[in-house]
Parts: sequence; C-alpha cells; structure tokens
Amino acid sequence: MSLKGKVALVTGSTSGIGFGIATALAREGASIMLNGFGNPAEIETMRSTMAKQYGVKVGFNGADLGHAEQVSALVAATRKQFGSLDILVNNAGIQFVAPVEAFPDDKWQAVIAINLSAAFYAMKAAIPGMKASAWGRIVNIASAHGLVASPNKVAYVAAKHGLVGATKVAAIETANDGITVNAICPGWVLTPLVQRQLEDRARQAGTDVEVEKKKMLQETQSMLQFSTPEEIGALVVFLCSDGARTITGAPLSIDGGWLAH
Ligand code: NAD
Repeated sequence: MSLKGKVALVTGSTSGIGFGIATALAREGASIMLNGFGNPAEIETMRSTMAKQYGVKVGFNGADLGHAEQVSALVAATRKQFGSLDILVNNAGIQFVAPVEAFPDDKWQAVIAINLSAAFYAMKAAIPGMKASAWGRIVNIASAHGLVASPNKVAYVAAKHGLVGATKVAAIETANDGITVNAICPGWVLTPLVQRQLEDRARQAGTDVEVEKKKMLQETQSMLQFSTPEEIGALVVFLCSDGARTITGAPLSIDGGWLAH
C-alpha cells in the first residue's frame, strides 16, 4: 500500500489502459477519481467494485475532455471530493485513421483536443496544488507514436509528439518542487481502441481479426506480443514510488522493442 493517503485522477479510466492504471493505483491504496464515457450502470459497478476490492475511496466524474472548461472543472471536482490531487494521469485518447489529404478537419480538432490540449489544461490546473504540498506525480500516456510515425495517423502522431514535448517543459519547470512529470510511450496494447482498428483492417483486407493481430505486431513490435493495461499500470505505480524520485521529463517506452528498430 505504497500510495495510501494519495489521491489520483486518471482520465479515460472507464476502459482499457486507463482502467488498468486506476486499478494498479487503487491496489497501492490511492483514492481514485475515474473519468470517461460509457454505460452509467456499468461505470457504477466498476466504481463500487474497485472501492470494495481495494478498500479505497473511488469517485467518478464524466467530464468531456474535449472542452477546456470541463478539464479544469474535473481537477477542481477531484480536489473538492478528496481534499487534494497528488497523482494526475492524462490517459484519455482517441484515434482516427486517414491519409493527410483526406483527414477530416473536425477529426483533427477532436484528436488534438482530447489527446493533447486536455493534458495541458489538466496539468495547468493540477500543478499549483502539487507545488503547495511539495509532492506531485504527473504521468502523460503518450505512445510509440509520440516518438515515431506511422502513416494515416497525422493527428494522433502530432498530438502524441506534442504531449512528449509538453511533458518535458512541465518537468523542467517543476523539477525543484517535488513534482515529476513523465510520458509513457506504449506500443500495441489490446484495448477497445486497438480492437476497432483491427476490425477495420480485417474488413478492408478481407481477413479476420486474428490474422490482423499478427500482421499488426509484425509491422512494428519486435516482441510479437501485446503489452497489457496491467503492465502500463505497474509502470505508473513505479513512477509514483520513491525509487523514481529523480526520473522526470522522460518518455518511457513500453513497446516490445518497437523503438529499437
Ligand atoms: P480506450 O478506447 O480503451 O479508452 C479510452 C478512454 O478514454 C475511455 O475511457 C474513453 O471513455 C475515454 N475518452 C475518450 N474520449 C474522451 C473524452 N472526450 N472525455 C473523457 N474521456 C474520454 O483506449 P486505450 O487503448 O485504453 O487508450 C488509452 C490511452 O493510451 C490513449 O491516450 C491512447 O492514445 C494511449 N495508447 C494506447 C495504445 C494501445 O495500443 N491501445 C498504445 C499507445 C498509446
């Protein structure tokens, strides 16, 4: 229970990687504010189960992170409900796939808003309180696509590269305030976001999802396996630990060797 007494906000935690991170932090004793979209009854079950299983306080706030004012309101609501905000994980993200010349303007705006701008607004709102308590951990979930590109993902790759840059700036600015700011850069993790891409690829190629899973891994990920949300959660827990006290401003790959190419 290394994080007992800490309060964590994990954006986009009703699914996939965010849920894995929230679960890992709850297991260490942190109070959790969940956020994201989904079926209200299922989210309530998720919230109450997590609270009961780990004996921690768990709240939920359905802020839409595509809107700046809702991001700062989410940070304020977390502080109001739990009394502080010690760990901020900017995880919410969306994907859209099309070549540059056919990429819809509204999709560009949405991907940049949710994958990049929301993290800026959340850090802006969270840092003053972390400075006041002289302790804070910010983890931005970027991607291998924060460091290298793939075709047809112009908005996502731009947003994730931007997020790595914003991470470095925030890290330098808070380096002597007891705060660390890092980016995690996962390769492929089998979540609903990737499942949708696999289904699209199978439809277009006339294959099936199992065939496309193998092809997807072979294209980029030397280790022909997906990472799991639990493994991303374990890395977040480490970044919140005393052992990671001097790791800041770092883009940390967890990608089965993708970036080693
Ligand atoms: P997911 O689709 O399973 O989960 C995304 C979460 O974000 C959901 O809880 C969803 O409700 C929430 N969300 C989406 N739009 C939102 C909005 N406007 N406001 C609030 N919440 C919103 O996806 P995932 O694969 O778990 O992705 C999580 C993060 O990890 C994303 O930032 C993604 O870019 C990143 N990532 C994923 C992979 C992968 O292979 N899955 C790889 C690298 C990085």
